[in-house]
Amino acid sequence: MKIKLRFLGAARNVTGSRYLLEVNSVRLLVDCGLYQEREFQGRNWDPFTIPPNTLDAVLLTHAHLDHCGLLPKLVREGFQGRIYCTTATSEIAQIILLDSAHLQEEDAEFKRKRHEREGRRGPFPEIPLYTVEDAKASLPLFSPVKYGEHVQIGNVVEATFYDAGHVLGSSMVKVVVSQGEEKRAIIFSGDVGRWDRPILQDPNIFSKADYVIVESTYGDSVHEEPAEIGDKLAEIVNSTHKAGGNILVPSFALQRTQEVLYYLNELLVQDRIPHLIVFLDSPMAISITEVFKRHSEMFDQDMMKLLQHRRSPFDFPCLKMVQTADESKSLNHIAGTIMIIAGSGMCTGGRIKHHLVTNISRPESAILFVGYQAMGTLGRQIVNGARKVRILGQEYPVRARIAQIRGFSAHADRDELLRWLSGLIVAPKHVFVTHGEAKVAEQFGEFLREKTGWEVSVPDYMEEVLLK
Ligand SMILES: [Zn+2]
Repeated sequence: MKIKLRFLGAARNVTGSRYLLEVNSVRLLVDCGLYQEREFQGRNWDPFTIPPNTLDAVLLTHAHLDHCGLLPKLVREGFQGRIYCTTATSEIAQIILLDSAHLQEEDAEFKRKRHEREGRRGPFPEIPLYTVEDAKASLPLFSPVKYGEHVQIGNVVEATFYDAGHVLGSSMVKVVVSQGEEKRAIIFSGDVGRWDRPILQDPNIFSKADYVIVESTYGDSVHEEPAEIGDKLAEIVNSTHKAGGNILVPSFALQRTQEVLYYLNELLVQDRIPHLIVFLDSPMAISITEVFKRHSEMFDQDMMKLLQHRRSPFDFPCLKMVQTADESKSLNHIAGTIMIIAGSGMCTGGRIKHHLVTNISRPESAILFVGYQAMGTLGRQIVNGARKVRILGQEYPVRARIAQIRGFSAHADRDELLRWLSGLIVAPKHVFVTHGEAKVAEQFGEFLREKTGWEVSVPDYMEEVLLK
């Protein structure tokens, strides 16, 4: 048996997920993600390690940019094979890749103008990493598959997708390599989701594998109990309604927004909050919510029950979709309490900025954070208690109530990762820990070794291993 596995990304860092698997003459990539951490973004510009036209296929675990965001570049540089993923992932990836290409174009133009004005050059070329045209050219290569369906690649590799319970359509991929009588099973965890979360099924458990590549984003910590999300949300909505202010929710378009709608719907059904109007003010989040509506076959039982009782969290009576920018601006003239869910999730761009301008200095309003706020973002400044913030070129005092609900997370924590791996009844030959900050991955690797006695390592960027 001779299988080569190379770690081209998310090795001792969190983003840029990309693995090259080579068996005989078959070559495939598992994920083709964008590097999003500032210190690694330069790698997005590096030429691909092997000529993209020599690749047979890409197996895509899910539609987050750090897993799919470099596909348009791969296609522009010659990849012509198929991109296998679930139908929901392909539909969401199309929305996300077009948006990403659009942002790349805008960014390049902005930088070009700024550098021209300042008479200097930046570290990266002032051209987009890829264009909207490049993104569009990658779309016909998407080949949707169902969970559990076998995909044959060449005559030695068979890939099967299983529910990861992370975001809609997300997968873990099992690759079985056959040579003569021998077979090896390699499992790529993708991003591992969580048990008992709203909307989605629980992550699939595997009982046997020879090799496992496991993510470790939260491999060093244990999440807060999700049970309190509803209570906290109810308290924030009710007290802001009483005060007569608005509630702003900066939110990510995929999964987080739909989960917020789920909890709101639940509170409305239980009559625990007033029937205030909820505006979903993000064309991308609206499009992604439409994908959710089309793929109820992926929902868990509780969600199916809601649909049977015509209580869909994506259609409740006071939920309004806001498409145009003019409509969005008009929301600021509505008297009485409303809730606005808008992107971007960390307040770095998008329509949330306009709503912050109108509300952040009003003591009766509330800004509710439901997601991670990275260092250096406006969201992080606000969460950290800044007294004044700069938004769209002007300074505003922060007087609104700043609230945070931490229970939302689409990633398994340390104990949940162990729970997922503990499904394996026979020790795998080796476990590779990836997709986590170096320290976190090391820590999780150590934890896993202690708990299981398995052979575990944290591969380096560009490291190649031979799987026997
Ligand atoms: Zn993800």
